[in-house]
Amino acid sequence: MYVVFLGAPGAGKGTQAAVVAKKLNLAHIATGDLFRQAIEKGTALGTQAKSYMEKGMLVPDKITIQMVLDRLLAPDCVAGVILDGFPRNLEQAKALDEALVTRNKTIDKVVYIKVSEQELLKRLGGRWICRSCQAPYHATDSPPRVWGKCDKCGGELYQRADDTAETVKKRLEVYFAQTAPLIDYYTKVGKLAEVEGEGGIEAVSTRIVSALKGKLKAR
Ligand code: ADP
Ligand code: ZN
Repeated sequence: MYVVFLGAPGAGKGTQAAVVAKKLNLAHIATGDLFRQAIEKGTALGTQAKSYMEKGMLVPDKITIQMVLDRLLAPDCVAGVILDGFPRNLEQAKALDEALVTRNKTIDKVVYIKVSEQELLKRLGGRWICRSCQAPYHATDSPPRVWGKCDKCGGELYQRADDTAETVKKRLEVYFAQTAPLIDYYTKVGKLAEVEGEGGIEAVSTRIVSALKGKLKAR
């Protein structure tokens, strides 16, 4: 099963993709995490991605598409994947469709996680992430047990360089201009499942799993 998670920055894609991937035994592919790991390692890919990410812009399609298509060939993807943060514009969506056809695969479902703009801004402002396992926390909504340390692995928590007020504004602009049109794109082919993204992490993941369930039963 191939699933895409769609939603604005701050909608909870990453949090939910991690939870749902575990529940359904799917691989979790987060393009933002792949880029951040490349930056930490200092690879050529990281160097290319860094300047775009810092400005809240999309990394060029050519680089991004290649990275995802390569990642999809890894053995952990055989049982199925959740794509988190990809595709992010029409060109990426079309390139993905075309590549999957040649691999005899298809996108089964697109989960659109809907959250109000007001809530998005609040969430992005207080976001902290584990440097080791990428688990997300929120200063007021879901703080770690020990300040600055990850509950899951003890790793150091940090604020993403692109979670500053100015970059958040740019990322939301890019989302509404380039990514939101994908809602229409996947609705037209009957693949979209809209899920209310406000409420607790568990409540939202339960909604997502039931939205995907029809699909699971069919297999
Ligand atoms: P968020 O969804 O909260 O913005 P991500 O971690 O998914 O966070 O993405 C962070 C940044 O990584 C984006 O602002 C962009 O610069 C880059 N990025 C992630 N996914 C893509 C993609 N599919 N295409 C181009 N750039 C991407
Ligand atoms: Zn951690």
